[in-house]
Amino acid sequence: MKKVTGEQKWGFSTRAIHAGVDYKQMNGSLATPIFQTSTFVFPSAEEGRERFAGNSDGYIYSRLGNPTVRVLEEKIAMLEGTEKALAFASGMGAVASVLLAILRAGDHVVCSKGLYGCTYSLFQWLQERFGIEFTLCNMNDEEEFRRAIRPETRCLYLETPINPTLELIDLKQAVNVARKNDLIVIVDNTFMSPYLQRPIEWGADIVVHSATKFIGGHGDVVAGLAAGPRKLLETVQMTTLKDLGPVLSPMDAYLLIRGLKTLGARMDRHCSNALEVARFLEAHPKVESVCYPGLPSFPQHELAKRQMEGFGGLISFEVGGGYEAALRLLNHVSLCKLAVSLGDVDTLIQHPASMTHAVVPPEARRQMGITDGLIRLSVGIEDVEDILADLEEALAFV
Ligand SMILES: *Cc1c(COP(=O)(O)O)cnc(C)c1O
Repeated sequence: MKKVTGEQKWGFSTRAIHAGVDYKQMNGSLATPIFQTSTFVFPSAEEGRERFAGNSDGYIYSRLGNPTVRVLEEKIAMLEGTEKALAFASGMGAVASVLLAILRAGDHVVCSKGLYGCTYSLFQWLQERFGIEFTLCNMNDEEEFRRAIRPETRCLYLETPINPTLELIDLKQAVNVARKNDLIVIVDNTFMSPYLQRPIEWGADIVVHSATKFIGGHGDVVAGLAAGPRKLLETVQMTTLKDLGPVLSPMDAYLLIRGLKTLGARMDRHCSNALEVARFLEAHPKVESVCYPGLPSFPQHELAKRQMEGFGGLISFEVGGGYEAALRLLNHVSLCKLAVSLGDVDTLIQHPASMTHAVVPPEARRQMGITDGLIRLSVGIEDVEDILADLEEALAFV
């Protein structure tokens, strides 16, 4: 599809709404049509041959490319500032496809100390069954970071902020060390979305997303995305995406294109609501501590201001009374929905020690800063007074 000229100069939300769409090819349809088809009819045998030979960019079969999915991919590439992007059936589909396309047996990966649970277990079985080793390391500690790098280290895989403690990794510093050692830098940008953080601008090579979260934004789709340089992403497309097959369906691509149109507006509201909720919690006598990058009390508040364009919608906080008190709070909220996942317009609340991080052994949990009284809140875009009233009522039971 041809790019409309001038797209690169547009602001973020204009790009999110208009980029990547060629209205002529869509019969003028304002909404991107859902090309709900598995295969594409060739106009001639010769054209079919040319498409298979890679000399024509016409469509062949939806596992190899689909016009609705293509619009989504063009938009993400424009928003993250990369040459190319690919869509996947889930965030884990994106993470696994990128890693498997880049790594081979004998390679080593340096990872941030906190990882999304399934990403951690993916690295574990890659190590056990495929001989790809990994080391968890505190990348903000340059000494520890340098020691973790080996001659066979191929890439750096990190999340910032780290779930659920929201500790940040200094992207500039991490990329600096990676450059000196020829490492491919992969950043999971799920918690921020491209509206609030663009790792590519700090020198990262590839960004991955669970689009299930802020990009979809409405809790109705599971999807993943990866964005990066053409050459690397083509390798992913022609190996793991094509041959393992974790492709996104056209219907789900449509939902994400729709979600993207309001990403900027939603993120602004997530940020302003979360800041108010964080201030309320910090002042509440039943709450012992609050982690939110937007609070001046947050240890890396200055780094957050430098590296992110907003502080996001996630908060974690600790109630006095540990495990029992946390469960009591969760059983007394009503507007805040008791559910894992994050980034939805609805406020979601969960208890990492017994839910998302229950599989992590207690000692490892403590090292990650996940105490028994820690609660994670994904602040939605409801009227903030209603969120505060709900939390106030539930905290009375703690
Ligand atoms: C949810 C999540 C994933 C996995 O994405 P799915 O869409 O559930 O497969 C990966 N990384 C982070 C940071 C996440 O929050």
